[in-house]
Amino acid sequence: MIRINEQYLKLQTSYLFADIKKRMTDFQERYPGREMIKLGIGDVTRGLPRACVEAMQSAVAEMADEDTFRGYGPEQGYAFLREKIAGHEYQARGVGIEADEIFVSDGAKCDTGNFQEILAGDAVVALPDPVYPVYLDANVMAGRAGTFADGRYTGIVYLDCTEANNFMPDLPGEQVDIIYLCFPNNPTGAMIDKEGLRKWVDFARKHKALILYDAAYEIFIQDPDLPRSIFEVEGAGECAVEFRSYSKTAGFTGTRCAYTVVPKDCRAFTSRGEPVSLHDLWLRRQSTKFNGASYPVQRAAEAVYTPAGQEQIKERIEYYLANAQLLKQSMESLGFQCAGGLHSPYIWINGRRDAWDFFDLLLHEAGVVCTPGVGFGSCGQGYIRLSAFNTRENVRKAVDRIQDALA
Ligand SMILES: *Cc1c(COP(=O)(O)O)cnc(C)c1O
Repeated sequence: MIRINEQYLKLQTSYLFADIKKRMTDFQERYPGREMIKLGIGDVTRGLPRACVEAMQSAVAEMADEDTFRGYGPEQGYAFLREKIAGHEYQARGVGIEADEIFVSDGAKCDTGNFQEILAGDAVVALPDPVYPVYLDANVMAGRAGTFADGRYTGIVYLDCTEANNFMPDLPGEQVDIIYLCFPNNPTGAMIDKEGLRKWVDFARKHKALILYDAAYEIFIQDPDLPRSIFEVEGAGECAVEFRSYSKTAGFTGTRCAYTVVPKDCRAFTSRGEPVSLHDLWLRRQSTKFNGASYPVQRAAEAVYTPAGQEQIKERIEYYLANAQLLKQSMESLGFQCAGGLHSPYIWINGRRDAWDFFDLLLHEAGVVCTPGVGFGSCGQGYIRLSAFNTRENVRKAVDRIQDALA
């Protein structure tokens, strides 16, 4: 008898977007003519930067010609891209990351989900609440969670992020092995400073834990004093892995390219306490299960680092951040407490009522779709997330409608 991995039956969060979709369909059926403005799902809306499109097009042309055709590429990513990443993203900012510590992939979702595979099955996982659901679900699938009750799994250490701690998780009071952090945060939009990050690095070194640091929204950081990378903190190289993506930075959500930095010094331990290089294990894992992102896509990502690419990306980020300002100011003028929106495309809003009630209110009274915070964890109860990924015109319309409905 073929049996399933029954851990999958414990999964909860997949219901979130299905539930949102159902409420949207019901709304559309009830009010066929009314337009919905979608500020829910975190997906970019602007077209790819011209520089990336042109690079991709010429790479596609190369693929058509036998002389310039490329078959399987290096599993770790082409050197031309890894060298640009190391130079522009790290070395130019004084962070000593080398090209061979970078692993190019087709997404930070799969990397943040897959990385736990090379760690012990009984490792204790700590993660923020609310949280990007991938970290939690990947560990549930791997059997690191117990039973689910009252919005939480036993065996998982939840780090509450609330108004009381400014949505900055406190250090765990117990031994944990794998720590997920995400800054600028999805869903709260909160951003940590260097001192705050140093506490986590010191904790991980002292407790021989590993930090999995998701910096997918790093490009939205506006204050030059805030850390763009966890490797700006001394000692992080031995206890942290960093995930980055071109999805939100350059509009690659449908094009797919990301990278993960695993420093050569980064270690985990055998049951006898001997250190092992995670770089070597991740290379082994990727070489076995992954065959690289496509050549045209890696050329498109490389074009991000041209002067034209940099200019085009900057313009897009400023566009989304201006949307975020409009949304945040509007909600604050209505008396709602908001986090995020400053170094992040997300605004996390205390609705002062049940998250789904607030979702229904915005949908029915304003025709605006948000994401109910409770879908990201029990600390999200009472909150909604608004996304700035939309056109300026739609954001203005949404703001007007919300003002009319709630003022
Ligand atoms: C969007 C997002 C990513 C990026 O995922 P890709 O697979 O690279 O598109 C990673 N982490 C978080 C928290 C995100 O919101």
